[in-house]
Amino acid sequence: MLGKMVQNRFFEAVEVRKGIWQILGQGGELCYLAEGSERAVLVDGLTGAGSLKAFVQELTKLPVVVVLTHGHLDHTGAAFEYGSCGIHPDDIPLMYHPFHSEESQRLWFATMDTPLATHRTEVTMDDIVRTVPVVTNPLYDGDVISLGDRELEVIHVPGHTYGTLVFLDRKERILFSGDACNINTLLGLYGSTSAEEYLDGLQHLKAYESAYDVMYGGHGRETVDRSIVDDAIAMCGRILAGTDDAEPAVSMDGEQVFYGARHLPDYRPACGGLANIQYRRDQLVRGSTVRPLPEWILKKN
Ligand SMILES: [Zn+2]
Repeated sequence: MLGKMVQNRFFEAVEVRKGIWQILGQGGELCYLAEGSERAVLVDGLTGAGSLKAFVQELTKLPVVVVLTHGHLDHTGAAFEYGSCGIHPDDIPLMYHPFHSEESQRLWFATMDTPLATHRTEVTMDDIVRTVPVVTNPLYDGDVISLGDRELEVIHVPGHTYGTLVFLDRKERILFSGDACNINTLLGLYGSTSAEEYLDGLQHLKAYESAYDVMYGGHGRETVDRSIVDDAIAMCGRILAGTDDAEPAVSMDGEQVFYGARHLPDYRPACGGLANIQYRRDQLVRGSTVRPLPEWILKKN
């Protein structure tokens, strides 16, 4: 029966399609378990508050591989439990950056008050997954993740982070979109691209629009119509032209940022549409951002 629900102290899983589970963590962050005939894939690993690996073992008996949409702390937790993950190489430095890998940061995220947080249980440091070195298998645009009778295509959509990936299930006509494009897409963070590079990423994603109907994202349980990509492309154009609403805000990094559209208390853009973008004015064009790389690597392109 679809709509089956399984839960424990930390997590709640709902079967949203046959063989596809949406799993909710403490901070309202989401990941997805998709089963094929030979193996299952866990798309993202939540924050690492409680053992997601143990919970997933309740959902599937198949061997599980972990792939990450990006390297932020609220998506990588279970990678450290499984000991390996697929990730775009541009996001490996982020995954191990102190902000995203220190256990105290995981505890902070899991206990922070946000509109989407569930706080199902009290989380303490004893519940936090240990950060250990893991095997990072490089995933690139155009790669295919084979689960047997299900395949996920890898699409690179730089923006929220340089290494942001989304995963397309053509048979099911759905896209696992992580934080790539949503009602509150954060471009203003350390490790985000410029608005110009994000626009390129969105145009690349638009080339796949006939292959799926809806997105399952990393925050917010409802699916999002694929038309959000058109909204986000139009908004990027306005931001680059300086004709957006430019509503001031402060980013999670404490920086001055702006929203492309004035938003309502639930983050919906006041102008209608599905997309909103938080950006930095000093990071509009290519070359204006600080890439998350050690200082001894000089990028030539
Ligand atoms: Zn993120």
